[in-house]
Amino acid sequence: MTATVDPLLPLSLLEAVRAVDTPSGEHEAEFVHELRNKRLGLSDTVFAQIKRYTEAVRRNQRPPFDEAVALARLVGRRPDAEAVFREGGRILARQAYRTISPVTRRLMLSLPSLLSRPIALRHARRITGRYTAGVIRRVGSTILLEVPHSVTLDTAPKLGGCTYYESALRELMQLLVGGVGAVEHVRCAGRGEGVCEWRAEWRPIGPGRK
Ligand SMILES: [Zn+2]
Repeated sequence: MTATVDPLLPLSLLEAVRAVDTPSGEHEAEFVHELRNKRLGLSDTVFAQIKRYTEAVRRNQRPPFDEAVALARLVGRRPDAEAVFREGGRILARQAYRTISPVTRRLMLSLPSLLSRPIALRHARRITGRYTAGVIRRVGSTILLEVPHSVTLDTAPKLGGCTYYESALRELMQLLVGGVGAVEHVRCAGRGEGVCEWRAEWRPIGPGRK
């Protein structure tokens, strides 16, 4: 069997390219026609690819792992690769979060942490398993995300590709429980440490929340 990925993963990378390349402010918007030729994210190619992966998400068709890696490499060659990966991780987490029912989402944000964290952990496990093929473990007051087969590994200089997963984990925790402490890349396959692993602290408990 060929290795595959969830279609939301490549889609999030492309949507990040589009988001980062979209003109900001009036000045840039005036030149949108010129920018279309210069910026990949505004090109017809990216538009067509986004359409294709959106359709794949709808039909639950899994593209090959290597196809997602090729996309990550394309991102990794950009001078702003890290910003695009960061945005891609956020997009992945936001879209994945929407697969949780609104009732459960509200519950996780309103219950005391003693009760909300186990629910949040369960959803974090399901979401990261499905969308990143990662494994989540809870260790004391932190959670660890291990990604044995990173799509973005070695696709950008200075381990920039790893930012994708880090950003996704941070955004997911933020959405699930309304806040997150420090997120660290504690082990990296790119540094010869076997696999990539991130550690996130649960939101520091503030006044009025236990
Ligand atoms: Zn890494």
